Amino acid sequence: MARSDHICPNCKEEMEEGLLLDRGHGNRPVPQEWLEGKPEPSFFIGLKTKNKRKRRVIAYRCPSCGLLQEYAR
Ligand SMILES: [Zn+2]
Repeated sequence: MARSDHICPNCKEEMEEGLLLDRGHGNRPVPQEWLEGKPEPSFFIGLKTKNKRKRRVIAYRCPSCGLLQEYAR
């Protein structure tokens, strides 16, 4: 189990580090990413992602109450 320095504000329990899964090309699981700006629909690929800053989203989960805290780093 991955340990972290994050403490649940409700239970004061140590939160576990993880990530949120998304579905990429071919329905493969990929880590969720933060993307700057507003969504710009693109006819061919769904959403424009080119030339935008991206960050991997890290999620901390409380083992007691299930609270999620997400960070884009
Ligand atoms: Zn909690």
